[in-house]
Formats: sequence, C-alpha cells, structure tokens
Amino acid sequence: MRTPIFCYKGFVMKAISFSIDDGNLSTDEKFLRIVNPYGIRGTFNLCHTNSLSPEEYREFYKGHGIANHCMRHPMVFCEGREYRISPEPLTDTNGNENLLYPTKDARIFHCYPHTWRKYTDRETYYELSEQSRAALLAVFGASAAKDFVWPFGEQSDPALFEMLKKRYRSIRKTGVILDSTGFSLPEDLYAWSYNAAQKTLLDAAALYEAYPDDGTLKFFSFGVHSVDYETDGRWDDLRTFCERMGNRPDVYWYAPIGEIFDYAEAVSAVRITDRKIVNPTDAKIYMLLDGERTVLSPHSECVL
Ligand SMILES: [Zn+2]
Repeated sequence: MRTPIFCYKGFVMKAISFSIDDGNLSTDEKFLRIVNPYGIRGTFNLCHTNSLSPEEYREFYKGHGIANHCMRHPMVFCEGREYRISPEPLTDTNGNENLLYPTKDARIFHCYPHTWRKYTDRETYYELSEQSRAALLAVFGASAAKDFVWPFGEQSDPALFEMLKKRYRSIRKTGVILDSTGFSLPEDLYAWSYNAAQKTLLDAAALYEAYPDDGTLKFFSFGVHSVDYETDGRWDDLRTFCERMGNRPDVYWYAPIGEIFDYAEAVSAVRITDRKIVNPTDAKIYMLLDGERTVLSPHSECVL
C-alpha cells in the first residue's frame, strides 16, 4: 500500500502569500506594481469599499484575495474594564488621556491623543463588521466574506470573539511569528498570524527557502500594511524578495490566504480507508504516490 504525500497545486510543498491591511489605495498600488510581475499573490484586508467603483475595485485587486478588516477599523471595549466617556466632544483644550470622546457616530468614541483610535461596544463592533462584510461580498463575491482580520490585533472580548468565530472561517491576529511554527499551516485558524513584516521579510524568506522538506505542506505569509514599506523605506526589500522568491512555480505555490486555507481544508477532508484514498471535496488534490505525481479529482477515489 502506498502512502500519499500531499502537495499543493503544481506538486510543490511550499506556499507563499501575504496579508496586507487597511486598503490604502496609493501604497497598495505601489505594492501591487512590485509583486504582480512576479506572480506573487495574497490577500488585502479591507474596511470598506467606498473609494472606487465596484468594477475599479475588482480590477485593482485582480488576482488577489480579500478579507474583512471591519468598517471604521474599531477597537472593542475590553471586557471588565471601565471607560469614562467625556460628555463633550474633544476640543483643542479639553484633551484627557483618561477619557473617551464622542464622535459624530453614535456609540463610537475616540481617545486622546490617538484620535484615530476608535472604540465601541461589542454589538456596534459586530454591526460594523457585518456592514463591511456585506459591502465586500457585494463587490468581490463570496470568497471576500470568509475571513476576518482584527483591526489593532486581537481584542479582549471573549463574547465578541465567539460571535466572529461563528461568522468566519479564520481570524488573523497581528504579530510576526517568523519560523516559530516550522512554517506549518496554522493549527488554529482563529489565531493565526504572518511570518514576516517589512523589516524581517528578507531574513524570514531566506529561512523559508532553506527550510527542509519534511513531507508536510508549508506556509509563509508576510504583512502587514503597504504603507509600512513606504514609511520604513523598504520597497527595495520587497523588490528583492520578489526577485528571489517570485516566478518559481516549480518550488512555490502563490495564492491568496483564503485559497491556501480552502486547499488545506480539502486535504484534511480526504479519507484513507482500506487501501483506498477518497476525495469527498470539490477540490483537486495533488499528491505523490511512491514519488508518482497523482491528481485526485473532486469526488473521486484512487487505490493505494
Ligand atoms: Zn488595520
């Protein structure tokens, strides 16, 4: 009986992707101009679809994935913590770091001096996430409604977390994990994060490239805002990354985060029973059987 080794599309063992937040169109455009010629694909995490027409949005992010980064990019009130709300909006003279200030939107507050930080309650947060989810769904289709990315990283509200877990297939937190998982596919899709950001990209990519094949599927993604490459003067690092890691379909599968998770789900649904391997999914499964490249078609089986 042969033991299958599961591969990605193209019979490769390593995937490459990225996860870029906030939908900053001017720096996303620079980012795309660099990655697109190298076939590198990933996911843009958007808060709204207010800046372009639907057609323009689809064209702008063509070939890449979309995830929900929540309308208004809020933080949720931390469970168990008391917040003091100022009765007056923030003025030039009444700034107090211990208060939250009303905004023009009911139930959304900001703090001082970081006025761009918006805080809200659990129900409003969830409503905002539903608003951006519906907008993304309307422009980009169903794949844009599957995955969520916390604004400002993981929030401390277990009840909200449970609500979002019911609604999404994955939730990304924030923070570079480098190679601490051996570049494995995330074990917990509700607490995954990227391997590198702009300052660590080249070192992490070198580690990934050299990482030995142990017969399991590998995953590498980098983040986290396109504007970081501008602010930190790291566009050349991104170019170098693309030159080294891009356009190599014999080594890497380039795909949006959601497509990689879809494929991983399909592989985990494959069943091996009594000398047969059964694919109950709609996906093609790529595998090596005693070194022989084999594609298991959707809803098919094969003798081992
Ligand atoms: Zn963000």
